[in-house]
Amino acid sequence: MSRVYPLFSGSKGNCYYVTAGGKGILIDAGRTAKQIEKALSDNSIDVKNIEGIFVTHEHIDHIKGVRVLASRYGINVYATQGTLEQMDAQGHLTPEKFNSYIINKGAEVAGIKVTSFATSHDCAESVGYVAEMPDGRKFAVATDTGCVTPEMEKALAGCDVVAIESNHDVNMLLNGVYPYMLKRRILSDSGHLSNEVCSQLLPGLVRKGSTRFLLAHLSEENNMPHIALESARCTLSQCGMKENDDYTLEVAHTVTDGSCIIF
Ligand SMILES: [Zn+2]
Ligand SMILES: [Zn+2]
Repeated sequence: MSRVYPLFSGSKGNCYYVTAGGKGILIDAGRTAKQIEKALSDNSIDVKNIEGIFVTHEHIDHIKGVRVLASRYGINVYATQGTLEQMDAQGHLTPEKFNSYIINKGAEVAGIKVTSFATSHDCAESVGYVAEMPDGRKFAVATDTGCVTPEMEKALAGCDVVAIESNHDVNMLLNGVYPYMLKRRILSDSGHLSNEVCSQLLPGLVRKGSTRFLLAHLSEENNMPHIALESARCTLSQCGMKENDDYTLEVAHTVTDGSCIIF
């Protein structure tokens, strides 16, 4: 039996702990090491069980705790070459860089086979990840992408649990206080996924076998959990899909509330 703990989600930091029991991995470590250590301990997870940190891209809300966790506990760091180069340039890798690895075709850590797929974001070489557990079940993280790339759609097909970005409500963003340039950045193809675009992706994923969705990386200024949920439910129900029969839907909390997804 596998578990995913969404420890942090959103622009203040992102971090998931994935385990098949015993050892496990982090996908992103975007809060301070201290905050991540506390979140792990609040969930009764021993930080020493982490055997790898998989980084999606170099934005601070995904890498803040990486260097300290990696050096304090000797944890290996995996990311694309472009992401590692940017992290290094910003001083986010340990000086020796002995424990950072370029993820090409994938890596197997803590019994979990991790593969990456390209996302479309304003950074060097961003990716999402699919974690395949020893029993073949799959958990995917697809956030920080301005559009759904073909590679992303293919990678998500058949994943049992999908954490997918539902960043903003377009109207809230347009009518909100963000400066024009920032609004344009978020709405662009290399920005963030809106509730609408996220919702449109879900029925196809259900048809291909995904049943559990975690709406993630919600904007605190331009979205609300009930709006993101309603958008997804509405599109799925228009396609004749029933919540809790055909799929389950939840929102990843900004900070863990102690819940995890068992799959
Ligand atoms: Zn980002
Ligand atoms: Zn982010």
